[in-house]
Amino acid sequence: MSELSAVVQIKNVVKKYDDRTALNGISFEIRKGECFGLLGPNGAGKSTTMKLMYGSARLTSGEMYILGLNVKKNEREIKSRIGVVPQDDGLDVDLTVQENLLIFANYHRIDRKVAYDRTLTLIRMMKLEDYQDRPVEVLSGGLRRRLAIARGLINNPEILFLDEPTAGLDPQSRLFVWDFFQRLKEEKSTIVMTTHYMEEAERICDRIAIIDQGRILDLDSPDALIRKHVGKEVVEFECSPQDSSYYTGRLTAAGFAFQVMHRSVSVLIGHNQESRQVMGLVASDRIVIRKATLNDVFLKLAGHHLRDQS
Ligand code: ADP
Repeated sequence: MSELSAVVQIKNVVKKYDDRTALNGISFEIRKGECFGLLGPNGAGKSTTMKLMYGSARLTSGEMYILGLNVKKNEREIKSRIGVVPQDDGLDVDLTVQENLLIFANYHRIDRKVAYDRTLTLIRMMKLEDYQDRPVEVLSGGLRRRLAIARGLINNPEILFLDEPTAGLDPQSRLFVWDFFQRLKEEKSTIVMTTHYMEEAERICDRIAIIDQGRILDLDSPDALIRKHVGKEVVEFECSPQDSSYYTGRLTAAGFAFQVMHRSVSVLIGHNQESRQVMGLVASDRIVIRKATLNDVFLKLAGHHLRDQS
């Protein structure tokens, strides 16, 4: 890939907190205009990667360039050209919606008149008109998140970084945020986000880095990850733990890969295999054939955490 189209370049980055290694030599690039997702279980290193990119943590070793600028030397310029929506939104609850935006515009040293107009545009974009002059403390979680996103856009950023943008939101608020991201994508904005919602990653992200224990396990488009790690579809069935070992023995002998979670077995149907064959090997009245999803990829690559916790 050409260096010019990469708005983020990360090379062998290590991040340690005292003697704990949060990132253990990660390397990847993010392209201009893409929506890039960092996906991984809790403690994988997603937030740490984000914080290094938007300048709220420092590298232990390695190199990182944002918009071609070295994070070790150009912190101030980088901050002026990016937008950040952290997990903890840090809004001032005593101030109104518009005041929160104006304060941030001031922090970016945006001219007062320009800032005022920009806050009105963002309030309209985020459908916050009815709350413009209300203090933030009266806003629901979904409305606050919209305001935090608006605030992240106040300086017309070239890259917008969002840490878990829809965590804890109700389904309707989540859909609003997803629709909004689609609009940003149509305008060719670069979006970088962490998420642990598979559906969110699959719907919105052009490419995803799956991260676990401070390492990148794979990086590609959701479709390519699904094709590579799962195959064309999944046969899922439920059975008792006793039957499970009998069936998984038969599946192994027939050359099928599978994942067991509690009482459910997901058989990954590869490109040269047929779901029908599984139907012949397993007798369960709770058996379905479904599309392979990113969730299957995630379970395969980073599922040990979930199994360890179950
Ligand atoms: P994620 O966002 O994927 O849940 P994090 O990047 O927050 O993961 O954390 C990665 C690892 O670094 C975890 O083991 C976490 O406990 C550790 N960690 C993160 N922030 C700090 C910190 N400020 N001090 C010490 N350890 C931290």
